[in-house]
Amino acid sequence: MPSRTCCTCGSPYLGFVCDHCGALASAPTSPEQERQALDEYRALVARSERQQQVQLLKSGFLPYDSAQLINAGLHCVSLIDSNEVIASRSDAAVGRLEAVAIKLDLLPQDGEIRRANAAFRAKIGDYRAKARRDTFLGLALMAIVATGIGYLVFG
Ligand SMILES: [Zn+2]
Repeated sequence: MPSRTCCTCGSPYLGFVCDHCGALASAPTSPEQERQALDEYRALVARSERQQQVQLLKSGFLPYDSAQLINAGLHCVSLIDSNEVIASRSDAAVGRLEAVAIKLDLLPQDGEIRRANAAFRAKIGDYRAKARRDTFLGLALMAIVATGIGYLVFG
């Protein structure tokens, strides 16, 4: 395939996905091409620096084909780690997974789509619940420390 120029960032690209910004530079026209584009996107995420991965997860294209959309969701699930200390990549992966779930809602429903969507939404719910618990514990700890300092200073 000849090299062309990405209309989002102006970089040259070869396949479907721009190597530089991750935009869909050439529109896939079949489920098979969407699979290739998704493979390129996943490979780009895998070889990028962590901060670039966050950007790619926020701006990555979503396939139209239901099987490829489910693949895109599974890729997000593999990047969600609720024990991460700096959660920016997990947050971005959860955001992309939510977009996948919403897009699955809009498709004609069958058993596979319903099961995948239920599993994705359960994963999103678990992650959000853990994030809320961590925030609560963090605030409780800060309150205890502040009270302790208060006693020491004004005690
Ligand atoms: Zn680009």
